[in-house]
Amino acid sequence: MKNLRILVLGSGVSGLTTAMTILQSTDHEVTLWSRESDGEFPSNSSDAFALWLPLREKADQRVEGWANYSLKVFKALAEIPDSGISLKPVVIFSDSKEKPWFAKEYAVARQAQAAELTEGYEGAWVLDPAPIIDPSGYLPWLRFNVAREGGKFVKKNIDSLDSFPSEFDVIINCTGLGSASLLKDSSLRPGRLQVVTVKNTIGLDRAYVDEVGPNKPAYVVPHGKFLKLGTVYDEDNQSTEVDEASTKDILTRCSSMVPELNFTLDDVVSVKRILCGMRDLVRMEPIQLADGRTLIHNYGHHRTGYITSHGIAKEIARLFGG
Ligand SMILES: Cc1cc2nc3c(=O)[nH]c(=O)nc-3n(C[C@H](O)[C@H](O)[C@H](O)COP(=O)(O)OP(=O)(O)OC[C@H]3O[C@@H](n4cnc5c(N)ncnc54)[C@H](O)[C@@H]3O)c2cc1C
Repeated sequence: MKNLRILVLGSGVSGLTTAMTILQSTDHEVTLWSRESDGEFPSNSSDAFALWLPLREKADQRVEGWANYSLKVFKALAEIPDSGISLKPVVIFSDSKEKPWFAKEYAVARQAQAAELTEGYEGAWVLDPAPIIDPSGYLPWLRFNVAREGGKFVKKNIDSLDSFPSEFDVIINCTGLGSASLLKDSSLRPGRLQVVTVKNTIGLDRAYVDEVGPNKPAYVVPHGKFLKLGTVYDEDNQSTEVDEASTKDILTRCSSMVPELNFTLDDVVSVKRILCGMRDLVRMEPIQLADGRTLIHNYGHHRTGYITSHGIAKEIARLFGG
């Protein structure tokens, strides 16, 4: 295969992982265009909880394979001290005593012991351990590796995907929510989340998740010296203004889920409102253009961009000999 000139649009977790994987497994040239300057990262990727959680999607059988491949990669990367990835217990609360599907698939999944259960929950399963990715370490690490492998970063705002730049043989679209306007993709919509950061003064060394029980959606995730707490979710409003009522609500629900927390507004270090690109299904789709070149869509990752990142990147790299 001749050396290709590949343009990756976007430098969030999808663009960076795709670029790094291609550069590490092929001889192609990779250039990344995105809105961020050096040292900046898009809020969607940088403010995420960035947990690896079991993932299965009836309507797209590829998803589970992508997630499982990413799990393997994250486990290996956790061995690298400055990757921002650690392996810790992740407690997933449940609304029933039944064994969840993932407990049969992953040897690390175990039923929570009585002392790990919180009142109000029927049950809980613990991935012991699973990758927790701290974006403040992981995204700079990814960017450093892309640059080290020869990837070139350009700060650039793209208005359209109609004119496909002639100097590139392949374009990989990792623009997240940006694809809503670039492609007029009406199935992509902004979902709004709020995340509260407090100092981890209690030394919590595990993550907690309630996506189905009385405090949903509730997440408590240790990232370095901090705990990220969340969240509230809506699709009706696109303002990124934070609101104190939601912060109080998040503190209350997270403390109900993990009673040892007990943080108040005075403990809050920062609050972020983030717009996330929501789509019923991820769009991972190579398209042959009329002039023979290739456009690959890799967007619409809603809550799972980290979980599937390495699996998708590997699949894309394989198309070009990686
Ligand atoms: C609070 C929160 C918690 C989350 N928790 C998890 C989790 O636990 N596990 C998980 O797997 N996922 C989680 N996610 C989801 C995950 O963060 C996203 O799926 C992921 O960040 C998507 O990454 P991306 O690179 O595709 O998009 P983004 O990070 O949004 O990056 C898009 C890129 O495209 C560029 N771009 C867009 N439009 C243009 C344009 N017109 N011109 C130039 N550049 C453009 C931007 O500059 C940016 O570089 C969470 C998200 C949030 C908000």
